[in-house]
Amino acid sequence: MHTKYNTIHADLRDLIIALKCSIDPHSYYTSQLGSVCKCTNHQIIFLCPFHDDRKHPNFTVTITGQYRHSFICFACDAKGDLILFHQKFHNLNFSEAINDLISNYASHLQIAN
Ligand SMILES: [Zn+2]
Repeated sequence: MHTKYNTIHADLRDLIIALKCSIDPHSYYTSQLGSVCKCTNHQIIFLCPFHDDRKHPNFTVTITGQYRHSFICFACDAKGDLILFHQKFHNLNFSEAINDLISNYASHLQIAN
């Protein structure tokens, strides 16, 4: 997954940054995962959608700073960013995830060709 990020076009990198800036982590992740289990100034914590545990909230999303939208699960070690989350959660490829995020959560962003 990480090699893809190293080779993507600069415009696409800008678009990803714009997506992470414009999409509010709290509204986005609650729309995907339901209620927040715990919350701090910098993180929101949910039950993890990527492993089977309905009791212990381990899925942690950073909501501020340069790691805004980064997620990690301390139980199953799932980790990534907004795009990877959207891919994994909805079973989409990279382009599908980007397009879906734009049309559903950031429709004011334009894609430059
Ligand atoms: Zn997990």
